Amino acid sequence: MKVTFYGTRGSCPTPGKSTLKYGGNTACVLVESEDGRKLILDAGTGIRVLGDEMVKNHDDIYLLLSHNHHDHIQGFPFFKPLYQAGRNIYIYPAKTNPNQPRAAIEQMNGSYFPLEEHELKANFEFKDTSWEQQPVTINGFRVHRREINHPNGGAAYIVEHGSKRVAYVTDNELNPPNKMATSAYEWKEFLLGVDLVIHDGQYIEKDMPLKHGWGHSLISEVVDLAKCANIKMLAFYSHDPDRTDDEIDQWQQKIDNMKLDNDIFFAKEGQCIEL
Ligand SMILES: [Zn+2]
Repeated sequence: MKVTFYGTRGSCPTPGKSTLKYGGNTACVLVESEDGRKLILDAGTGIRVLGDEMVKNHDDIYLLLSHNHHDHIQGFPFFKPLYQAGRNIYIYPAKTNPNQPRAAIEQMNGSYFPLEEHELKANFEFKDTSWEQQPVTINGFRVHRREINHPNGGAAYIVEHGSKRVAYVTDNELNPPNKMATSAYEWKEFLLGVDLVIHDGQYIEKDMPLKHGWGHSLISEVVDLAKCANIKMLAFYSHDPDRTDDEIDQWQQKIDNMKLDNDIFFAKEGQCIEL
């Protein structure tokens, strides 16, 4: 299984000199199986570059969304396969409150984006969001889901193929001040033994208490989760728009100094992990 990061930034794209190393595009990850099947996670601005690659063939496209906040769907209108005649695109939205399963395409309404849905050439199918915790099969991958602790809800995924599993848990607050959708114990159970866990680590202690309840985790909380869930490989994701490359490097150094058994790193745009 191969995992490629096309966008790693949370909340807002951050082009500029101080974010070159870890990237400025928002959420998008591609998972590929050994037999060449693909699954896209989220449609932040990173999906634009992925679209430039995918437009070269006509394979069916499968896109899973964590939720509809702008940084997770903003790149969708710039995904070139949308404009390919006869291209089949299957979109799996997460259940949110309010539930707007077609939000990715509804943003293309002439007001936020000049083209409208009827002008797109691809064939779209928005899949049912009612599947709760039952695993489903999507393009040959087994997909498990849990609800994230995030304002207005959304989904985290484990994508499984053969003996390999990758978890995508972005925009998740491990210790929210309000009601938890999924508890720390449930996350530990869900993520146990997963080969690569991609987890939100947007905040640091000095962001608190202002951002407590905004739906993202402290880096330190996620390190604790990695230790207690015995996570082999953890990729921090959804980097704060204000976090510079130098600051992220300093956090990497702090974590390396802990000399943990877990392989913990901050995901970089363009990085590819072979599992
Ligand atoms: Zn969000």
